[in-house]
Amino acid sequence: MKTNGVVIWLTGLSGAGKTTIAETLERIFSAKQLQVELLDGDVIRTNLSQGLGYTKEDRDTNIRRVGFVANLLSRNGVIVIVATISPYRLVRDEMKAMIHHFLEVYINAPLTICESRDVKGLYAAARKGKIKAFTGIDAPYEAPLTPDITCFTDRETVEESVTKIMNALEAGGFVDGMRSESTTPPYKGLKGLQAQQQKAS
Ligand code: ADP
Repeated sequence: MKTNGVVIWLTGLSGAGKTTIAETLERIFSAKQLQVELLDGDVIRTNLSQGLGYTKEDRDTNIRRVGFVANLLSRNGVIVIVATISPYRLVRDEMKAMIHHFLEVYINAPLTICESRDVKGLYAAARKGKIKAFTGIDAPYEAPLTPDITCFTDRETVEESVTKIMNALEAGGFVDGMRSESTTPPYKGLKGLQAQQQKAS
């Protein structure tokens, strides 16, 4: 398995499944002896973005910091998995434009499902008003309009969601050699592949 470095950016509501999918991807890449870094939103907020709050401005600053680090790593051949709510479309698009090899993955589960999962008890706290500006409750989530991949975690297994992402990485030329029968394609990136598909149709 080979890679030229890529940022896999997982966006979605709290409880949608970002961390679960990110950790599974990380295990796969580590097992293949590839250099991989997981930038998890919760972890980032305890160090790189410590002290930032949840206003739109602070959230955008957080995303720009994460994107900056992800860019540095990915251009040095690392597979970077970003798992952060990243609720605002504009700053996500800014990262997409800045980072050369970028795969936007929408981890999509309805709010009702995320709330019923309530993995960390945060929705209950937000409903009681103990947490303010909580995404999906009293702060917006702007879903991607044209994500590279959407994982519907309310009706897919973790394995199905992960397989979708791995297939897209391989199809886009970001990671080669997942499937034993695969040959080495010329590197073209996801945009190149999409252009090729449009031309063929
Ligand atoms: P987030 O990081 O987006 O806040 P988590 O990964 O912490 O979300 O929690 C998602 C929860 O949903 C986990 O308990 C996980 O087991 C469950 N889940 C069910 N189906 C899926 C799926 N297809 N992908 C990811 N998580 C899933």
